Amino acid sequence: MRGRILRAGLIRVIQWAGRKILVIDQAEALARIFARVRAQPARTVPLEQSLGCFAARDVSAGMPLPPFDNSAMDGYAVVARSCMVGGRLRVTGEQPAGADRSLDLRDGEAIRIFTGGPMPRGSDAVIMQEDVDRRADEIIVRSEVAVGDFVRRRGGDVAAGQKILSAGERIRPETIALLASQGIGSLEVGGKVTAAIIATGDELVAPGARLRPGQIYDANTALIRGMLESLGVRVRSVAHCPDRADAIEAAVRAGIACDIMIISGGVSVGARDLVKPALLAAGAQLDLWRVAVKPGKPFLFGHANRCSIFGLPGNPVSAFVTLLLFVRPAVLKLMGASDDALELARWTALLASRVHNDGERPHYMRGALKEGKFLPLGRQESHALFGLSRSNALLLVQPGQQIPAGETVTVFTWN
Ligand code: AMP
Ligand code: MG
Repeated sequence: MRGRILRAGLIRVIQWAGRKILVIDQAEALARIFARVRAQPARTVPLEQSLGCFAARDVSAGMPLPPFDNSAMDGYAVVARSCMVGGRLRVTGEQPAGADRSLDLRDGEAIRIFTGGPMPRGSDAVIMQEDVDRRADEIIVRSEVAVGDFVRRRGGDVAAGQKILSAGERIRPETIALLASQGIGSLEVGGKVTAAIIATGDELVAPGARLRPGQIYDANTALIRGMLESLGVRVRSVAHCPDRADAIEAAVRAGIACDIMIISGGVSVGARDLVKPALLAAGAQLDLWRVAVKPGKPFLFGHANRCSIFGLPGNPVSAFVTLLLFVRPAVLKLMGASDDALELARWTALLASRVHNDGERPHYMRGALKEGKFLPLGRQESHALFGLSRSNALLLVQPGQQIPAGETVTVFTWN
C-alpha cells in the first residue's frame, strides 16, 4: 500500500474496482472527528440517574469510611489482653447496629455486638459468636484473641479527603454504591447526547412488516439504536428514507436539531448513493469521506451547526465496525469521557486459526474471544450478520499480514 502525507493527515491511494481512490487513515479520520466534537455542558443529576454517565469533576470523600470503628461479625466486643482460651468474661450489655449506645467495657467484660455495631469504648477486638460458649451472663472464650480481630477501623477503607472519583470516569453501579456510602445524593455529570437515526434504501422494510420480492429487513436501525442506547444516548428520532435526494435532505434537516445524526446506506459511489448530495443540499459540511478500514470504506463524517453527522455503509457489519471505531469514541467524548475511556479494551489472546489480509486496507476481523483464545468467526464479509452476532472481539490484520495459528495477538472488545 502506498501512503503519502497530504496537508495535515495521512491519506492513502488504493485501487478500488479498477480505479484509484483516496482513503483516509483511521487515526486521521478520528482526529478530524475529535476536532469537531466537544464535551456537552455538564449537568447535575440525582445519584440514581447517573448510571452510565461520566463524572464532570473529581469527587473527594467528605468523610472516612467506615465512619466509626465497628464490628465485622456477630459476636462479643472484648479487651484482647483479658481473653484466654478457656477463660470467662461477664456480658455487661448489648450493642446492635444502629444507634450507638455509648457503652463502656473493662478487662474481664464482654458486650454482645452485632455486625456493623459501633465498638464500645475500651474494647479492642471482637470474638465471633461461634468461638465462645454462652452461659447465662457469661461467655467462655474458645479461641485466641488479638487486638483488632474483627474490628473494621474508621477510615480503613476510605480516608476523608481521598479522591474517590475522577473527572471523565464512567459511573458504574459500584461507583454509585461508593458515592451513596458517602451520602452523596446528586452528582455533576457530562451532558446528555441526543441522536437522530436515518436508514436509507429503497429495499428496506421495517421488521414485522411484510417483505416483497427484492426487499430486505432494515437491520441497521436496530443495530445503531442498540449501540447508541447502550452508551447512554437518547435516540430522539428514527426515519427510513427511500433512495431519493429530496427525502434524505428532508430527514437530514429534521435531524440537525440532535447532537448526532447517524445515516446508514447510500454513502458509497453508486448512482443511488445520495447521502452526500443530500447532506450538502441541507447545508452540512463534509469533514471526511472514505476511510482505510475493512469493512467500512465508504464511512463519512460531517457536521451541520452543532450536529455531528456520521454516514455509515449500508452493509450491517461495515456499519457495526464504523460505529465502534468512529461513532462510539465521538459519543463518549460528547458525554464527557476521559481520553483513556474512549478506546476499546485490548486483550492478549492466542489466535485459534490462521488469518491473512491480502487487501490494501487494515482488516478488522470479527471473532470470539474465549478463555484466552481468539477464533475468527464465519464469513468475514460485510453483509454477514450471523458471524458478527456470535462475535465479541475484533482482530486487526494489516495489509499483507499473515498470522499463523497459535500466535499471540491483541484483540479489541467493546462490552
Ligand atoms: P448501500 O451502502 O446503500 O450501498 O448498501 C450496501 C448494502 O447494505 C446493500 O446490500 C443494502 O441492501 C444493505 N443495507 C443498506 N441499508 C441496510 C439496512 N438498514 N439494513 C440491512 N441492510 C442494509
Ligand atoms: Mg443503498
